[in-house]
Amino acid sequence: MADSEPKILISREAIEQKVAELAARISEDYKEAQPLLLVGVLKGSFIFLADLSRQLTIPHTVDFIAVSSYGNATKSTGEVRLLMDLRSTIAGKHVLVVEDIVDTGYTLEYLLRLLRARRPASLKACALVRKPDRRKVDVTLDYVGFDIPDKWVVGYGLDWGDRYRTLPYIGYVELAEES
Ligand code: 5GP
Repeated sequence: MADSEPKILISREAIEQKVAELAARISEDYKEAQPLLLVGVLKGSFIFLADLSRQLTIPHTVDFIAVSSYGNATKSTGEVRLLMDLRSTIAGKHVLVVEDIVDTGYTLEYLLRLLRARRPASLKACALVRKPDRRKVDVTLDYVGFDIPDKWVVGYGLDWGDRYRTLPYIGYVELAEES
């Protein structure tokens, strides 16, 4: 149970500024690398992806993939399952995976392995938030918004039991059963 409403960790303004910075870097890095496909990881990345996509100044398309690693829990089991695959083929495309958050790294490692086998022209990953203290696998993140402490964060697409996704900031909830 969360005892209280989320406390602000990253403000709406800080997120806006960071998304603009990331979009500028990605637009520059991919201007010669076409076609570019952004792969949003559902559900948590939908708001980040929408904001990032609209700030890119280069042509790109968008697709979604859904995976499950936690079920309804807040601790990773390390077992990742594919819930919904891409609609597009990615062979020959420059693919950028857009994640909301990288925690242990298991989900991103799974996704990169899955997508790499389909022979994209290139494969990189971007996450708005990363928890460096929780990393279990060494997975490369090419673009990172914020490094944060080991807290359960919500807002800007991130949920806690499907709550709080539409908060305009990233906050954290105190989990009573946290160990
Ligand atoms: P990983 O496989 O890196 O441990 O976890 C990645 C996934 O776990 C994320 O895509 C996200 O769905 C979920 N996750 C990890 N930490 C948090 C968190 O603090 N808040 C929320 N809402 N989801 C998290």
